[in-house]
Amino acid sequence: MNGRRKFLGQAALSASALALSGRLAGQPASSTPVGARVVSTWDFGVQANQPAWKVLATGGGALDAVEQGARWAETDLCNPTVGRCGNPDRDGILTLDASIMDGDGRCGAVAALEDIDHPISVARRVMEKTPHVMLVGDGAQQFAVEQGFNKQRLLTPQAEQAWREWRARAEYKPEINAERRQRPGDRDNHDTLGMLAIDRHGRLAGACTTSGMAWKLHGRVGDSPIIGAGLYVDNDVGAATASGVGEEMIRNAASFLVVELMRQGRSPMEACREAIARVVRKRPEASKSLQVCFLALNRHGEVGAFALHQGFVYAVCDAQRQDALLASDAVYGEGA
Ligand code: ASP
Repeated sequence: MNGRRKFLGQAALSASALALSGRLAGQPASSTPVGARVVSTWDFGVQANQPAWKVLATGGGALDAVEQGARWAETDLCNPTVGRCGNPDRDGILTLDASIMDGDGRCGAVAALEDIDHPISVARRVMEKTPHVMLVGDGAQQFAVEQGFNKQRLLTPQAEQAWREWRARAEYKPEINAERRQRPGDRDNHDTLGMLAIDRHGRLAGACTTSGMAWKLHGRVGDSPIIGAGLYVDNDVGAATASGVGEEMIRNAASFLVVELMRQGRSPMEACREAIARVVRKRPEASKSLQVCFLALNRHGEVGAFALHQGFVYAVCDAQRQDALLASDAVYGEGA
């Protein structure tokens, strides 16, 4: 327990140090030159940040950076909650959700996409090549194939086996994964990659990619591909992304809420904390057993995070530190 407290204490210290490093001393925030930075949800965010950082460090834009980071998570990371290694739905079908947005309000998303291994890049094509924002299911797949993406069976033998084991004990009941709260440090419980970046010109972008909740009803779509729920970006203010039980984020238009709170003057951390308070106020009982986590980055490069329950960690990468992993504060749990 001592070790854990110590870790959290150090994390809090690092978080405030980061908040300061986005500014130059003596200058008002509004005229501050901004250093490039990328932040991501969960421990695998440390690795996902690396390809994103490569783009930023060589002068590339925030949008390219978050796409590259998300692509890494979708393929190189073999993780049961993101991309090709994701766990399937109740019927054993792997469906992927993703969204991408830049600070000028351009955005694209795909939901319930099957058999295409880079949903984030399909989302970007939706943004850039169509007059629409979101494509779902068969239509999204058809569009992806037209755009040159390969159709391939993605479900891994491990994910299929996990599904068979789940089906044997679960009586075909879709789950809202409350276990997530009890085993927050368990790697398999880590979810969606939400990534936010600011480039050297102060432009913001974000990406969010997931296989959604394991064993969900076929056709269920969470917050991750829904602009304003799992992701929101505005160059005038900042960016926010979410992980956890997506139904709560959708109910509260939560990432949009975080950005709007920053617009009203809250720091990223205050905005995330207030959005969590909103989730709790709406459904106090449900909040005791569901995890909801927010990560925000404002236009000055300041970072903040807050969760309903202990266990949410996020990764920060910039010129000073490439592999920082910080723990967020939380409403419920040890020390909260
Ligand atoms: N938010 C995602 C969803 O609800 C999954 C997660 O991050 O836990 O689909």
